[in-house]
Amino acid sequence: MSEPTLFEKIHQGVIPARVLLREDLCFAIEDIDPKAPFHALVIPVKPIPSLAEATDDDGPILAACLGLARKLAQANGLENGWRLVANTGGFAGQTVPHLHFHLLGGRRMGWPPG
Ligand code: 5GP
Repeated sequence: MSEPTLFEKIHQGVIPARVLLREDLCFAIEDIDPKAPFHALVIPVKPIPSLAEATDDDGPILAACLGLARKLAQANGLENGWRLVANTGGFAGQTVPHLHFHLLGGRRMGWPPG
């Protein structure tokens, strides 16, 4: 058995985090190092390493993550706009090898991203 990922440990309560929403297929926590006034991580319970490894069978999980992100944005007053980002692989800046979506909002954002 491989070592549980950081986000599995958080889901199990082994590592503390501020949990914002919890559903069967996914959950959301506050990012420990926020890059915007609102910065949450939407995480599937299943430890898919990244979007590059997700399969067609993971479709319901991905749909649940997108739905949870929308609910979080609505519940936290992000009606002016929000961004959902999945850093995928080293060049994109992914540091935790368990799929997660950054939900960012509360400020105007630039494009293209760095
Ligand atoms: P990545 O760099 O893989 O796209 O995103 C990983 C994110 O996880 C980073 O934004 C980082 O701040 C966040 N993070 C890393 N360790 C912890 C932790 O222990 N608790 C929480 N809540 N977030 C973390």
